[in-house]
Amino acid sequence: MTPLDTLLDELVTANRILAREEVVDSFGHISARHPERPDRFILSRARAPDCIERDDLMEFSLDGEPVDARGRKPYLERYIHAAVYEAKPEVHAVVHNHSPSVIPFGVTGTKIRPLLHTCGCMGHEVPIWDSGEKFGDTNMLVSSLAMGRDLARRVGGGRTALLRGHGCVVAARNIREVVYIAVYLELNARLQMQAMGMGTIKFLTAGEVDKILESTGAVAFDRAWENWCRRAGREPGQMTGV
Ligand SMILES: [Zn+2]
Repeated sequence: MTPLDTLLDELVTANRILAREEVVDSFGHISARHPERPDRFILSRARAPDCIERDDLMEFSLDGEPVDARGRKPYLERYIHAAVYEAKPEVHAVVHNHSPSVIPFGVTGTKIRPLLHTCGCMGHEVPIWDSGEKFGDTNMLVSSLAMGRDLARRVGGGRTALLRGHGCVVAARNIREVVYIAVYLELNARLQMQAMGMGTIKFLTAGEVDKILESTGAVAFDRAWENWCRRAGREPGQMTGV
């Protein structure tokens, strides 16, 4: 298996996991930067994540255009991925989804903040990007590179951003990490809404989040990955955590 073969297999698995964990439904997608061509990324053709096979995976350049489409129709919102890879060279995997529990935060302006240790990986700040501020009334989809770049600027040095009335974007160093953050961002949003009804929330402190970011790595991502692979009916591949 070449590094590209391994990555393509893992990307199919990641699509199935995100579907199984209800972070994506018929919509939403995950991409990975090409392991040998940092100016390219891999993303499925336009298809529901739970249905995706290896032949659906397409290569794109950082302007969001397919390298060799072979008749396959790409996602309209591929510009989210293109712009994040263009802006953030350290990022090697991107998820865009409409996971249900994050939506109320995007439309009320109430910030999602980590309140559970496994959710600390989302980082200190989850900014909200409002497409209407710069692009006026649209159909809410990120349908151009200009929109993708504006969204990528809102992600800034962080790992996530919410899209008002739409969903969220998560960016990370590899596929397993981006899946982990996306799943736990959805869980944090759900728990935060529950806790808000019970009283004042004591969120993780900035120092606690720093320590979680420093100490969470391949061991945690692999443990979650193996479990989620089992639930999604996929082989986990090589475990990299020690
Ligand atoms: Zn979307």
